[in-house]
Amino acid sequence: MTSEIISVGTELLLGTIINTDAAALGERLAALGISCYRQTVVGDNEERLTEALNDALKRSELIFLSGGLGPTEDDLTKETVAKVMGLRLVEDEGSRHAIDEFFKKRGRKPTDNNWKQALIPEGAIVIENPEGTAPGIIVEKDGHRLILMPGPPNEFVPMLDNKVTPYLKSISDSVIYSQNVKICGVGESAVEAAITDMIDNQDNPTIATYAKTGEVHIRVTAKAGDEKAAKKLVKPVTKELKRRFGVYVYATEDDITLEQSIIDLLKVNRLTVTTAESCTGGLVASRLISVPGASDTYKCGFVTYSNKSKRKFLGVRGSTLDKYGAVSAKTAAAMAKGAAAAAKSDIAVSVTGIAGPDGGTDKKPVGLVYIGCYVNGKCEVKEYKFSGNRNKVRESATAAALTLLRRSVLEDFSRKEFKDLAE
Ligand code: ATP
Ligand code: MG
Repeated sequence: MTSEIISVGTELLLGTIINTDAAALGERLAALGISCYRQTVVGDNEERLTEALNDALKRSELIFLSGGLGPTEDDLTKETVAKVMGLRLVEDEGSRHAIDEFFKKRGRKPTDNNWKQALIPEGAIVIENPEGTAPGIIVEKDGHRLILMPGPPNEFVPMLDNKVTPYLKSISDSVIYSQNVKICGVGESAVEAAITDMIDNQDNPTIATYAKTGEVHIRVTAKAGDEKAAKKLVKPVTKELKRRFGVYVYATEDDITLEQSIIDLLKVNRLTVTTAESCTGGLVASRLISVPGASDTYKCGFVTYSNKSKRKFLGVRGSTLDKYGAVSAKTAAAMAKGAAAAAKSDIAVSVTGIAGPDGGTDKKPVGLVYIGCYVNGKCEVKEYKFSGNRNKVRESATAAALTLLRRSVLEDFSRKEFKDLAE
């Protein structure tokens, strides 16, 4: 089944908004194993939309349209689709009722043009939209399926995940199942080098690597008659990947992030962590705290940007700063140790570096970052040289800090009673 996407909206062409709907859809289609060969963006213009639609109909069985389902004059997706497909627009009672309810619930009155949203091409399938007033619409005609969804991402994404994905699965004769093996602490090229043989010989399942800041995800995707059979194909491959990357694999579930895996690891082992950050300015803390329930393990942290604050809050010695500088292994170690003591936590991770664009020297260039991790009386410091602009350096340093934190905890606590969730 081949598909394409037509995104409707003048704002997209003007660059006022980014086409996140198409990105979300593209990602879901890839996961479902539905080939998507084109994305087209057209403004709110009937003539050009008609042209785009006629072109798409020549090529694809499945056509997705986003946007232009609203109540105003310039919302003309549904009208244009009906015209091109030779269908009349008829009122859908359920949608009229849903619009009525939507406004009642919010204590507002619909305007006359809101009722326009209850009109659908005759014979089309209506997709409820609990987040808004424009229903989604599926038109099945002459071997084509056109799927119309509202533009606002807070309506588009839930409709895609909750309604459209099950529909796509129901019309597909095969099932796609994929699993991610998420790796931290190994670069993309090293990951690829370690699995060249697997990549070269891949067929079903397929293997693809995706590089994220400080992480690499390997997606294993199989196609089979049913989910059980697809899972069976995926399993030995993920097992082999886990064998090859060992402790560097932090999760095999889509919804587990690196920070989530760390919080889970600390929580089940009843450990607390704190952070002492200079150039990352709280990014490490922020990622840890983004995990729901982080409060059991993360109590407080420190953003110590100046030398004075490193001394005052973390007890870093003036002599250490004078002799080695704020960006040094010694300072990173002192920051971590001091933070653990000040926060009374089991573990502390520290970051100090030069994010740029200024402040670099020959000896200490922009991108030089020291990350320390204090665990159980021992402190490990690693030196990194990151590239990119200020934000990129800060993001890379944050990912490296989380990676070192995870690794230090795993290594130090690799006692019998310690629970490693990644295994
Ligand atoms: P509405 O009922 O809000 O008018 P609609 O289905 O008619 O919804 P549009 O009018 O095309 O959709 O767009 C409404 C808003 O939705 C845009 O201002 C934009 O914020 C968002 N939006 C539309 N299309 C996209 C897209 N492809 N990607 C991300 N956001 C989008
Ligand atoms: Mg609109």
